[in-house]
Order: sequence, then structure tokens, then C-alpha cells
Amino acid sequence: MKQFNFILFGPPGAGKGTQAKTIGSKFNVVHLSTGDMIRDAKDDPAFAVYLTSGQLVPDNVIDDMVFKRLAKDDCKSGFLLDGFPRTIFQAKQLDDFLRKQNRQITKVFFINIGHEEVIRRLGGRRVCPSCGGSFNIDLKPPKKAGICDFCGGELIHRKDDTPETIKERLEVYDRQTSPLAEYYEKKGCMVKINGEVSPEKVFEQIEAAIAN
Ligand code: AMP
Repeated sequence: MKQFNFILFGPPGAGKGTQAKTIGSKFNVVHLSTGDMIRDAKDDPAFAVYLTSGQLVPDNVIDDMVFKRLAKDDCKSGFLLDGFPRTIFQAKQLDDFLRKQNRQITKVFFINIGHEEVIRRLGGRRVCPSCGGSFNIDLKPPKKAGICDFCGGELIHRKDDTPETIKERLEVYDRQTSPLAEYYEKKGCMVKINGEVSPEKVFEQIEAAIAN
């Protein structure tokens, strides 16, 4: 089977997590979400602060986490990075890491949505910590208020989905993450995806790009 090494990037709320689940189940790739890794480590006060402030975890800390994970055997048949890299420094470190292992990025999917859409989506977002299901109290409400349609888990409002933190995360994205579009465009491996359509239509664009 063909080996795929994918990167998903885009502003917060673009739907990276939702697409990652679909891509992960249709293609043979291990889904690595750095946001989930940080949330899993939130009992460590060193990480909790980033989740409430919307600031990025220092590059060397996150690089270390990701590269340890990517070195494991299950990632050797393919991976999907969701939320990493988030800075040009991280992207360059990833290039070095993969080069040393004779691996390379197959495609980078840049899922783009505008700032107003980010605010609309994240303000009402409720997520399921058990299965990763994502809902929106206005745009995509669960069948039963507060309960995950997929696994029956209790939905939560993420600490970093408050208006102040959303604003900060958008500023951090513009300043530190959006330059990745130019970085990967120059490398010729990036595909721009319109994220302001239904999740099914977003996936169709991704699937078509993979088929190319
Ligand atoms: P996310 O769920 O991807 O929005 O990530 C939640 C939070 O985890 C971010 O606001 C950052 O504080 C941290 N984080 C996730 N990925 C990275 C990364 N690649 N570099 C630095 N911090 C990250």
C-alpha cells in the first residue's frame, strides 16, 4: 500500500480535527494531533498555561514530543500531522528530521477559512473529550444537548474557545503559523482547500488532491 505522510494546517476552527478523523480512517495513516497531546498533558501546569492563553508551546518542547512519536513503528507506514508544524522553525526541524530518515511529506493541505468564520465556529464549539467528536450549539447541535451523538460522552466547552483566547489564537495564527503557506507553496507540495463548505465537501477536495 502507498505510504502517505500528510500535514493539515489552517486557522483554529478550520475543521482540521474533523478531516483528520476521516482521512485517518480512509487512508493508512496515524493521526497525530499536537493539540490533543497538549490537552492530554494539561495536568502539568507547564502546559495548562498555554491552553488558557492561546500562546504556542515553545518549539523545542513540541518538536521533541512530535519527533519521539514519529519515530515509533506505527508511524513508519504513514502519518497525518494535525496542528504541527505551527511555526517556520518547526517546519524546518521537521524537514531535517524526515530527511535523516529518508522520508518526505506527501502533501500539505491548507484548509482556509476567514476570521469571521473562525469566531462563529469556535464561539459555539462543544467537543467530546472521549471520542473527539465536535459540535456547535448553533451550527451543528448534538441531538441531545450536552451529549455526544457518537459515543454518549459529555460535551465540553474547551478552555481556549473563550472570546479572549480565540482572539489571541487568531493573532498567534496570523503572526506565527500563516507564513507556512508560503513556505510549503514554494516547496510545491501544498494544496489549498476551501474550508468554508460542509465537511463532506472539504473532504472531497482533499480526496481529489490525494488522487492527483
Ligand atoms: P489546537 O487544538 O491544535 O488548537 O492546539 C491547542 C493548543 O496547543 C494551542 O493553542 C497551543 O498552545 C498548543 N499547540 C498545539 N500544537 C502546537 C504546536 N505545533 N506548537 C506549539 N503549540 C502547539
